[in-house]
Amino acid sequence: MKRSFDGGPGDPSRRRLAALIDEMMARGRPVRVVQKRAFWHQRAAAGVLWALTLGGQRTYLTHYVTTLGHTIYVPDDFERWHPDHAWQVLRHELVHVAQFERLGWLGMALIYGLLPLPAGLAWGRARLEWEAYRETLRAVAESEGLAAARAPALHAQIRSRFTGPDYGWMWPFPRAVQRWIDETLAEIEAERGAPAARSR
Ligand SMILES: [Zn+2]
Repeated sequence: MKRSFDGGPGDPSRRRLAALIDEMMARGRPVRVVQKRAFWHQRAAAGVLWALTLGGQRTYLTHYVTTLGHTIYVPDDFERWHPDHAWQVLRHELVHVAQFERLGWLGMALIYGLLPLPAGLAWGRARLEWEAYRETLRAVAESEGLAAARAPALHAQIRSRFTGPDYGWMWPFPRAVQRWIDETLAEIEAERGAPAARSR
């Protein structure tokens, strides 16, 4: 997951990101990208999450992207992210946009569990996040290649999202999460006609 970038605006990575944002804005229901900190409800959510996770989640405003309906709330430094990373994250968040379209706000609140935010074994949230992390793996493979999608550091990061405090310990079974990752990589490899290889 690339985090810094010094290519110019003509760079293919930057063009791909701009093309995705254009496509999002051109939709029948445009998908907006906005600064998270500018919204009182996001600042309030940060405080609630900090309290509910006993201080475990304290980077909600500075590190996390959150999608609600057709709005994607990004952290302060989003403009400075490597465009490949920004593009991968938007692809993930667009899965959540599609989930809001499919399930509605009430459905998302019930299944994702924003209210009452149960911690641990949040199966609904884990299922919805896994659908989006599949897209993350696809987007990494498309933009940086299969080797990047197979990188153990990326897998560790994804596993910790499910097993740690970021999302309230939603699915604390690292081996199960790694199995999902391996299955998705095998699918991506099969689609590309590459030999299926275990990631570790
Ligand atoms: Zn997500």
